[in-house]
Amino acid sequence: MPHRPLSTATSRALVWFKRDLRQDDHAPLAAAQQFESALGLFIIEPDWLASPEFSSAHLQFALDSLAPLRASLAARGLPLLVRVGEATEVLAALRAETGFTHLLSHEETGPMWTYARDKAVAVWCAERGVRWQEWTQSGVVRRLRSRFGWAKRWQARMDAPRIAAQGGFAGVAGVELHDIPNLQTLGLQADTKLVQTGTEASAWAELDGFLDGRGRDYRLAMSSPLTAPDACSRLSPHLAFGTISMRAVHQATEYAIAHTADRALARALRSFSGRLRWHCHFMQKLEDQPSIEFENFASVCDGLRENDFDATRFEAWCAGQTGYPMVDACMRSLNATGWLNFRMRAMLVSFASYHLWLHWRPTGMYLARQFLDFEAGIHWSQMQMQSGTTGINTLRIYSPTKQALDQDPDGAFIRHWVPELARVPLPYLAEPWKMNDTLERMSGCVIGRDYPAPIVDDKTAVKAAKDRLYGLRKTPEARAEADAVQSRHGSRKSGMAQTGVRPRSGKAGGAAKTAAHKTSHAAQAAAAQPDLFADMAEPAGDQSPGLA
Ligand SMILES: Cc1cc2nc3c(=O)[nH]c(=O)nc-3n(C[C@H](O)[C@H](O)[C@H](O)COP(=O)(O)OP(=O)(O)OC[C@H]3O[C@@H](n4cnc5c(N)ncnc54)[C@H](O)[C@@H]3O)c2cc1C
Repeated sequence: MPHRPLSTATSRALVWFKRDLRQDDHAPLAAAQQFESALGLFIIEPDWLASPEFSSAHLQFALDSLAPLRASLAARGLPLLVRVGEATEVLAALRAETGFTHLLSHEETGPMWTYARDKAVAVWCAERGVRWQEWTQSGVVRRLRSRFGWAKRWQARMDAPRIAAQGGFAGVAGVELHDIPNLQTLGLQADTKLVQTGTEASAWAELDGFLDGRGRDYRLAMSSPLTAPDACSRLSPHLAFGTISMRAVHQATEYAIAHTADRALARALRSFSGRLRWHCHFMQKLEDQPSIEFENFASVCDGLRENDFDATRFEAWCAGQTGYPMVDACMRSLNATGWLNFRMRAMLVSFASYHLWLHWRPTGMYLARQFLDFEAGIHWSQMQMQSGTTGINTLRIYSPTKQALDQDPDGAFIRHWVPELARVPLPYLAEPWKMNDTLERMSGCVIGRDYPAPIVDDKTAVKAAKDRLYGLRKTPEARAEADAVQSRHGSRKSGMAQTGVRPRSGKAGGAAKTAAHKTSHAAQAAAAQPDLFADMAEPAGDQSPGLA
């Protein structure tokens, strides 16, 4: 979005860094140059540290990014303060200290606590005559009336020139900078995960490496947890903390596609490019309906799982002790590294929501703490999609055994993350409970002693879950609500008409087939298209409608 000139008479700007820890493509920073003086601020907010999705790995990523940002802004004359406290209190103290007149920041689409804080800041500014100006930094549209035209707007924003502050700043002199706090001074335990590090430079290095060729196998290698860590861009924490802008990633990708002679790489990058739009498409859902962080998209799903929470199952799932090797390997890998590829994230949630019949909210909070890239809009939409509570999507129930055979055919991933199974013969690795006593002895893995027996029976659990969900979806209330959700949140890219439940091509459940049968001619044509969140159809290499 082009930045608007601001009145600069006796003006002092405070640039509030939030999820935008960079200098490149930073409209508030560029706008600050029009003021008589300026300074920057990042706030470590108690509400963030206390939120159930918070992990100290998140804060560490931000702190890693702040140190070099402070150094390079200082070299350009802009002091960057890092203060701890509730936003309005920090702002009040700084106003008393520096007399800033304008607050400049990017818009944020985050968890409810950020929404509440922004409302409080808006009131604080209004009461004190401080002008707060916000800029968008993604494709998310504030106060969106209709999803029609959304994709075009996304494209226009992403194709617009990047906004960069040129040269130096007239920084406010004499403000006490103080050292940037660290986890220890904040009284926080370090997270022991081996995660990616922050900084704007590492975001660009990650992007460059991916566009230069690391992404060539993206489409085929993204589904397996063995190959995905190298084949995927790994930009997600950088996009979540804004160490690089979505527009910069989009433009660099389009440039690489246009200028590479490597056709396989260009194809892979096109697929990647589509996912950048998904990022904003999902965040838009939270922007439009903040309650999806807590409440089912489809209210007909209220009460479905709420009263069935089984703490023992939940704890086994969190610890990677379910007795299903692929589930356990993925969870242990995530717990150790803070990242997992899309398909395996979906499998973990599918297992929790269908096999274990756990509500998506506690499982989602646990995962949010593990994902270094936690992004509320994507996360809660995906949690609900993979749990069947959007009321619209075809149920995708992943079989952990099939996923093990498809995505880890040699068993290397399972053996690495579940060492108890290291000597189990390959034919039994995905289903070790099928070993007889001799095999258990020979492989040094007695089920129930060295590794858990399956926590639930796969077939029985899936059948029970399907019966409950498809039964619910057949009701007239569910169908009516599905249309409303589709209308509010669905992508218009596929040109889909509204039909409620609709099958993807390939396998589909009974209710979905029935619903499709009854659709109009236009809707039947559209039924060949991907369903709601239409952009969610996985391209080649990650396609798995229905039971996966
Ligand atoms: C249950 C569940 C929870 C998830 N939670 C998050 C989350 O908190 N934060 C997050 O960034 N992603 C989340 N995802 C989406 C996806 O798994 C990650 O974006 C992806 O694995 C990040 O790795 P990458 O950057 O290498 O992705 P790449 O495949 O290289 O994709 C590039 C970027 O495109 C976007 N993107 C890719 N896939 C998706 C998708 N399916 N939906 C929306 N955007 C996408 C992301 O911004 C990603 O960084 C979740 C998926 C599931 C199933």
